[in-house]
Amino acid sequence: MDPHIEDMVIVGTGPAGLTAAIYGARAGLSPLVFAGSQPGGQLTTTTDVENFPGFAEGILGPQLMENMTTQAQRVGARIEHQHIDAVSYPPPPNAAEQRERLKQLNLTDGGVILAKTVILCTGATAKTLQLPGEDALIGHGLSTCATCDGFFYRGKVVAVVGGGDSAMEESLFLANLAQKVYLIHRRDSYRASRIMLERAEQHPNIEFLVPYQVHKLLKTSHESTAAPSLSGITLRHALSGDLKQLDIDGLFYAIGHTPNSGPFAPWVDTDAQGYVLVTGEVQTKTPGVYAAGDVCDPHFKQAITAAGLGCKAAMSAIRYLDETSW
Ligand code: NAP
Repeated sequence: MDPHIEDMVIVGTGPAGLTAAIYGARAGLSPLVFAGSQPGGQLTTTTDVENFPGFAEGILGPQLMENMTTQAQRVGARIEHQHIDAVSYPPPPNAAEQRERLKQLNLTDGGVILAKTVILCTGATAKTLQLPGEDALIGHGLSTCATCDGFFYRGKVVAVVGGGDSAMEESLFLANLAQKVYLIHRRDSYRASRIMLERAEQHPNIEFLVPYQVHKLLKTSHESTAAPSLSGITLRHALSGDLKQLDIDGLFYAIGHTPNSGPFAPWVDTDAQGYVLVTGEVQTKTPGVYAAGDVCDPHFKQAITAAGLGCKAAMSAIRYLDETSW
């Protein structure tokens, strides 16, 4: 017996995925939504969101995502906590014509879902420097999210790596908690906008170390737990190659994000960084497969733009279902 065929599957539960879910549900499609490994997406790792319209006093990121989740479920979206490992077109016995149109999603638990339309809203993941020992130090002195972990470094000495707006924003956030923030950047010019750069440069707690790269992570082991924690870093001067040691309690990476497009390669083209290429803002190269949010947006990366694209993707999928005979 063929498995049940879903009208609309949405992968990801950030602002793009949940907005698509709300629109799909209100069109009567009862979308199946996969939450993946970070339900709620990147906003669950932020604090105050002050630029999402409708919240005059601002709203906490996790609360905003909880509200969107509740709203999506209330109107009929089904949310499942599963990961998509791979995608393809289903094999026979489906009719050849249907086979061209149906999409198959393979779940981590071995399950298989067939869908008429799929909306990819898998977002992006923070990049790391890939230094030896990194994995063991994440959460023990090493972080990719100042707003999530900065609280643990009140009164301490920390460093932020990067020269973009994220690095400036994270440094400024940390500067109000930590005793001292070093901003480490590999060049002496910046991608950050002028206003953000100037704010960071003018903050008395922030010291710029440029052009430097992090060469090595230094660690100590706690006697009680035997777990390692970061005790400092070695920096290498980008021009002279000279090394110097910096004693810090915490290191924050702010060096950009990688779009989570990997499993969907059979259906989509991507640019060199892995961002899904779309036409008409949300249409991938595969009819019935749409993308929305940070997975296809290297430029804006805002909750509100992701939500807007989620809406457009859902409306496009609804139109495709109406116009296609099944
Ligand atoms: P980004 O603009 O791509 O900047 C990444 C930074 O990390 C660059 O300075 C880059 O150095 C550095 N970097 C990358 N790989 C590195 C490596 N292996 N070693 C050392 N340094 C490395 O990323 P972003 O700051 O996350 O910003 C992404 C987008 O979001 C931007 O459009 C930004 O404007 C936007 N954003 C806006 C705000 C805001 O307006 N409040 C806040 C955050 C982000 P190079 O410059 O040398 O390549």
